[in-house]
Amino acid sequence: MIGLTHTRSAIDAHTHVHPNAATLLLDVMEANGIDRVVNLGILERLGIPFQEGMRAFQSVLGDRLVYFPAPDFGDTAPGFGRRMAEELEGKIEAGACGLKIFKELGLRHRDADGKLIAVDDPRLDPLWAKAGDLRVPVLIHTADPLAFFQPLDEGNERWEELQLHPDWYFGGPGFPGHESLLAQRNRVVERHPGTTFIGAHLGNYPENLAYVTACLNRYPNLYVDTAARIGEIGRHPAQEVRSFLLKHQDRIIFGTDLTLGWDTYEKQEDRTEIKQFYDAHWRFLETGERQIEYPGYPVQGRWKVDAVNLPDEVLEKLYVCNAQGLIPGLGT
Ligand SMILES: [Zn+2]
Repeated sequence: MIGLTHTRSAIDAHTHVHPNAATLLLDVMEANGIDRVVNLGILERLGIPFQEGMRAFQSVLGDRLVYFPAPDFGDTAPGFGRRMAEELEGKIEAGACGLKIFKELGLRHRDADGKLIAVDDPRLDPLWAKAGDLRVPVLIHTADPLAFFQPLDEGNERWEELQLHPDWYFGGPGFPGHESLLAQRNRVVERHPGTTFIGAHLGNYPENLAYVTACLNRYPNLYVDTAARIGEIGRHPAQEVRSFLLKHQDRIIFGTDLTLGWDTYEKQEDRTEIKQFYDAHWRFLETGERQIEYPGYPVQGRWKVDAVNLPDEVLEKLYVCNAQGLIPGLGT
């Protein structure tokens, strides 16, 4: 790739890797300068026993992989928040380093009475408080791209994608709106100032950098990651994006949403493609090139992005220092 001189190592703080893909992950890390990864919620998502999964990761990756378990929303009988807190504590004692919340909270998980559980449902307070007590961060995915909540017609910019994946559409009856979900999340962050929250996907409002700025200004315990949103982040004028990243350089964590070893829409197995995927991140963050393909292009839309050419010390914060400051087990 012409003009790319990426040589530094990075932590990828947002991945979803099946234990069976641990060896592939090690190869991918070696080939792409990824020193460590944070692996999110995959064991619970796929019903893989925790100890078995952790052993599989550790045998291949040692301390180069840290794991955040997800709570079990299959059990929402009364007292579920307390039970989730206890389970988190047990898993942290057994080597986990944080808590992962998938987007189904607020959109799909229901309590024992069949009622949708809001992100800020007080019954979950023991869980958020426990993460704070244990000094581990909560990586929380709330809402999704704005287009998934907007009218579903050919004017919707994700029309093609939503035709292929109708279950990603949340604009129908019974779903809270995009900003309403983010407001629920914000109330949790506000109510638990002693707990660190990392809002996945640039806090899930990369379409609106002013909104993300307002959240970061308001909640000192909120951080955001870059996972799977370079395409959205890079849609704004490059100068605006660069200023945003410089302003919040201590609050933004590099992550990609790399997914290995299980069947998803964006199944990534091919080493060459994965190399291109990482290179596209480096290219966006480290060069000043114009109108380049974002990582994962064109899945999120057929536009191109202008790179932001961040200074070395800011790259070091995004790639390494910010994650190390928040997430136990990533070394210093
Ligand atoms: Zn993810």
